[in-house]
Amino acid sequence: MTELSALSAVPAGPRDGVLRFYFGPMDCGKSTLALQMNYNHGRQGRRGLVLTKHDRSGGPRITSRIGLDSEAVEVEDDLDLVALVLSRKPIDYVICDEACFYTVPQIEQLAHLADEHGVDVYAFGLASDFRSQMFPASQRLFELADEISRLQVEVLCWCGRPGRLNARVAGGKLVRTGEQIVIGDTGDAPVRYQVLCRRHYLTGDLGDA
Ligand SMILES: [Zn+2]
Repeated sequence: MTELSALSAVPAGPRDGVLRFYFGPMDCGKSTLALQMNYNHGRQGRRGLVLTKHDRSGGPRITSRIGLDSEAVEVEDDLDLVALVLSRKPIDYVICDEACFYTVPQIEQLAHLADEHGVDVYAFGLASDFRSQMFPASQRLFELADEISRLQVEVLCWCGRPGRLNARVAGGKLVRTGEQIVIGDTGDAPVRYQVLCRRHYLTGDLGDA
């Protein structure tokens, strides 16, 4: 959604960047779209930077389930994204994968890059955690982004309904309490995640999986 007003006097100057947030459950193709977008913009001669955090590869890369991958900068909690991007000047756009795991100040830094430096920011991530509550960074993106898109690349619950929510499963049971971010094994019980429809998320029915 682009808002244009013929009444407001917009000062002439460098163009504003756009901040877009693409959200969806696990397995909906967010990383694949992030990589595709990077490829498309790069082919037009635009200069980009790719960021990620806690990628499934465990390294500073974006990897997608269908085999595409790209080098990326790992976003540590204390990384200043404005300073990072300005140090790599000129940068036309930034791809932010796994943006749900960034800090709230980092999301505000992305907005600053769009507004003050004309950088287009394309952020991808989960909206909500295993408790079905929003990640703080995702909430900030909903509040600040120019455009928000739900990705629904046919990720289905076991029952066939659209998969909407990310359930955490430990010991074969859906769990509703614990740390917001737990990736992989935690030692005692292997933790996995399963996408469920709202109904089966709420009832805790994992099907036969
Ligand atoms: Zn279901």
